[in-house]
Amino acid sequence: MDQSGDGRESSTSDPLADPIALPRQVPPTPKNCQCKVNMMMNIPKLDCAIQETPKPQLDKMFKVTGDVIHSCQDSTRCGCYLGPVDLVCIMTVFEQTAACFDYIAKSSFDGTIKVGIGNYCVSKIDDASLKRMLVLDLVKQADELLDSVSEIAQNMSVAQNEHGFKRMGRSPACLNQLNLDYVREAIANFKKLFRLITDFFGEKDPKS
Ligand SMILES: [Zn+2]
Repeated sequence: MDQSGDGRESSTSDPLADPIALPRQVPPTPKNCQCKVNMMMNIPKLDCAIQETPKPQLDKMFKVTGDVIHSCQDSTRCGCYLGPVDLVCIMTVFEQTAACFDYIAKSSFDGTIKVGIGNYCVSKIDDASLKRMLVLDLVKQADELLDSVSEIAQNMSVAQNEHGFKRMGRSPACLNQLNLDYVREAIANFKKLFRLITDFFGEKDPKS
């Protein structure tokens, strides 16, 4: 246990002198990790895109919806503390994209989309199969996020059942259960919506 000499040396080493990053060995990030703040900060952008006059721009819709999905996915993969309340928070942010999905699904075939490559906005492409591809890709990304959240919720349920009525975070077990039920229901509803969209876009244009 007591190693005279060695213990001192490591603590005096300057962290800035070490250029090698330690990806998984850093201690768990604190509860107030920035990933959730980043996620929240995307909501006003969604509102801007939806409320744009004279009418919302499809390309912006795709962009902000994708950004929200990515920021939610970042939170699930961040590695910082996640409790049932955090999952509710992620789902609440994600639910804000419902209006965008609705708009995109309805207007995908009569609007034009600017396709951006890097910082360049190349051209307006009015191509039904391209739009379909973009819609399906967005749905796929959202679907992957839902799968991640679903898996985390499932693990939390198992952990809670195994440990009986133990508190998780600051919430009592019954509240955690309600939160996880809400998350599961929200996921199920989105999955239904995505199935509708996928079926619609899959059938609309059989030849690729
Ligand atoms: Zn985080």
